[in-house]
Amino acid sequence: MKYISTRGNNQELSSAEAIIKGLADDGGLFVPDTMPKVDLPFIGELQQLSYQERAVKVLSLFLTDYTREEIEDCVNRAYGNGKFDHKDIAPVNFLKDASVLELWHGPTSAFKDMALQLLPQLLSTALKKTGEQNEVLILVATSGDTGKAALEGFRDVEQTRIMVFYPDNGVSRIQRLQMVTQQGGNVAVTAVKGNFDDAQSGVKAIFNDREFNTRLHEKGFSLSSANSINWGRLVPQIVYYFSAYADMLNESRIKLGDKVSFIVPTGNFGDILAGYYAMSMGLPVKKLVCASNTNNVLTDFLNTGVYDRNREFFKTISPSMDILISSNLERLLYHITGNQAQVAGWMKELADCGRYDVGAEVLAKIKEVFSADWSDDNATKGMIKKEYDMEGYIPDPHTAVAWNALYRLKGLDNPVIVSTASPYKFNESVLTALGKSIEGKDEFQLLDELATINSFGIPAGLAGLKDAEIVHKNTVEKADMPKSVLQFT
Ligand SMILES: *Cc1c(COP(=O)(O)O)cnc(C)c1O
Repeated sequence: MKYISTRGNNQELSSAEAIIKGLADDGGLFVPDTMPKVDLPFIGELQQLSYQERAVKVLSLFLTDYTREEIEDCVNRAYGNGKFDHKDIAPVNFLKDASVLELWHGPTSAFKDMALQLLPQLLSTALKKTGEQNEVLILVATSGDTGKAALEGFRDVEQTRIMVFYPDNGVSRIQRLQMVTQQGGNVAVTAVKGNFDDAQSGVKAIFNDREFNTRLHEKGFSLSSANSINWGRLVPQIVYYFSAYADMLNESRIKLGDKVSFIVPTGNFGDILAGYYAMSMGLPVKKLVCASNTNNVLTDFLNTGVYDRNREFFKTISPSMDILISSNLERLLYHITGNQAQVAGWMKELADCGRYDVGAEVLAKIKEVFSADWSDDNATKGMIKKEYDMEGYIPDPHTAVAWNALYRLKGLDNPVIVSTASPYKFNESVLTALGKSIEGKDEFQLLDELATINSFGIPAGLAGLKDAEIVHKNTVEKADMPKSVLQFT
């Protein structure tokens, strides 16, 4: 299998090469040139397997240049070693009104771990396979969650180093503690004076500075990013759609061949796109539901065919979905149309004027698979309370957005809610939704308070933070970010 650009230059890469490169030369995203197909017996066989074994079977279909042993090693390092606090890695919790696929049992209690535990392993293996001598330096600007998940994923992974910049006044106390206490011999964490945009534009400037990159090269480093357009971040996510289906079979919720619907809290369109890959491969899926918050640019797109980012940006209580440009949508447009020139044209319109229209025919094809809905913060809080009252289950705000869509949309057979964060990550919003007073309480007191009503305890990664040793104390001006990169290499 080869990987090609969504925008149509003639690059044809192996999966290892695509994972090292990240982005195609023409600015497009890498996609497989054929869709691997599976039959029902393949899916039935997953029932008896562990999550890791399921992952090896599914990943092998896409990473055809990796040996089976390489994939097994990657998978075991990512999902073994007790890094996840549930033996099933991505368990399905069977409630009365829905089945809930919990993707937050990893080290940072959010769904980014599912991909960011495996991507570094795939990348490190790719470097060995392709004979790349340079060390890869991952640079991340973070507003909180992605930085921590990337640090955990890359820590002590061979031939890689990771450096995370966070805004010194733009992350919560818990988020800061998660990062500044990070262990590992190949990690650096630095505060940047300013807000997230300062950190982000500083990192972008480093990526775009040719001279600086040449200097790093001479020192034996190449820069790379861990963001969600890398194929190595998308492919791990396909696995859990199959895994959830196998668990539904094991629980006798469905029979082999029955269709299920996934309701996915969506921001950058990576998670739900992985569901589309699973469906295209042959997983029996009726609908993929794209659930958004007030930044409902995707809801509008999936209903009208017009993508328009020229709109107000809202800060919501589901911040990981506060996004106006969903990069991974480009991959869907390629797979639906198969027309790279057309995709390139739409992406140019998006870059030039923030808007494109795919037309009625393409929209109709998209609608065969996708539905869309959105919730404002009030409805989201209402749903947290409702689920707690009805089932004693406390969803995080992102998951609650998906739950609202389940109640509003009709015709969703065997619904599976894709749950993307532990409620403990968002204890302030969750406790407020449940009518508890948060006044005057710090984040650790809020964790303890949530633990008194939740059905499971505080995740180890959060509970240990209060007493963890602070090892990263640097703060720099934005202008000095390149200097600190040089010091780290
Ligand atoms: C990143 C994230 C999402 C959105 O996932 P996409 O792949 O960007 O659509 C949803 N919920 C949480 C908690 C996240 O961290």
